[in-house]
Amino acid sequence: MKVYMDYSATTPVKKEVLDAMIPFFTEQYGNPSSIYQMGQASKKAIDEARDKIAKTFNARQDEIYFTGCGSESDNWAIKGTAHALKHIGNHIITSSVEHHAVLHTCEYLEKQGFEITYLPVDSEGLVSLEDLKNAIKDTTILISIMYANNEIGTIQPIEEIGKIAKEKGILFHTDAVQAYGHIVIDTQALPVDMISVSAHKLYGPKGVGALYLRKGIKIHNLLHGGGQEKGRRAGTENIAGIVGFGKAAEMAYTDIEAHDKKLTTFRNDLTKRIMEAIPYTRLNGHKEKRLCNNVNISFQYVEGEGILLGLDMAGISASSGSACTSGSLDPSHVLLGIGLTHEIAHGSLRLTLGDMTTQEEIDYVVEKLPAIIQRLRDMSPLYEQVKEGNR
Ligand code: PLP
Repeated sequence: MKVYMDYSATTPVKKEVLDAMIPFFTEQYGNPSSIYQMGQASKKAIDEARDKIAKTFNARQDEIYFTGCGSESDNWAIKGTAHALKHIGNHIITSSVEHHAVLHTCEYLEKQGFEITYLPVDSEGLVSLEDLKNAIKDTTILISIMYANNEIGTIQPIEEIGKIAKEKGILFHTDAVQAYGHIVIDTQALPVDMISVSAHKLYGPKGVGALYLRKGIKIHNLLHGGGQEKGRRAGTENIAGIVGFGKAAEMAYTDIEAHDKKLTTFRNDLTKRIMEAIPYTRLNGHKEKRLCNNVNISFQYVEGEGILLGLDMAGISASSGSACTSGSLDPSHVLLGIGLTHEIAHGSLRLTLGDMTTQEEIDYVVEKLPAIIQRLRDMSPLYEQVKEGNR
């Protein structure tokens, strides 16, 4: 059996999405900047996709800008604000558990003379509103806090953070790459100025993202060149990708309540059964304030890479809490950020569910995982000591 449980890494493109995209590679390939009919048809398709995405945010069409990925949207929001407002101040507040697209952008700006505060999180991954208030200075120009964490699924108090930012007149950006498609993000109700999202996390294609930029907010461009995206983001548009993104976003929000209900039930079932079947485990992230599709569990006395290899041999694709795939064995900054020791962080497993997940797949993982963990523990000298009562 083949089981994909890494939907937070990426998702398959849905058939309806691909069908919507294909004509824009083969027949409708006109450049949207061209004035003849085929060009204008491409322009119309982009506008329709923009409209679909705007609707999911309860936003205006002209508040949605297409980008090349979620990382670009994050870079644009943060660098664009920093450069536009540097005459007002040089201080940016973010959290220690952001995606690297935010963290590394902030580190880059630090080298350019900006001052960055990285707010800590509690053991469940939440930032403290008190810490946020205390961190604000006269020079603070931006708060960038992610909507939901990609590793542990914790959902931040975005509305409260937005209110604090608004009261102080500070711009607020949220990286909603993981939240988009799972949570309703209503920009009429939520005091958020900029939102980053990405198509490949919600059954759209890779290589296309968007930035919601509230009307009237002026940030600098990241890409300079042609006048695309109303002069805000140069580069010939990825029309097929944008059309696919529009279709995927529309589908994701058509029955979001049912999606949430189904995945929450699966998530809770999977978590409960794994925790019951395997001793010395810890659920990472917040129990309730978490993404409906995220399970993240640490298993003491095992290495995450070993778990992944064992699962892979059983046909299960999942993700661990360390960056081993990128050639380093450093445990994830998120797991260390919630206070896990290196040893425990190393034994972490992230299972993320999606629209194609079935009860049989959940049952299969619950059936296979205990033996994989046991086999690894049987090889662990630490576990030997635990069994002998020496630890
Ligand atoms: N932000 C978060 C929270 C993510 O999870 C990801 C991707 O995993 C990104 C940003 C980057 O998105 P993209 O892969 O579209 O660049």
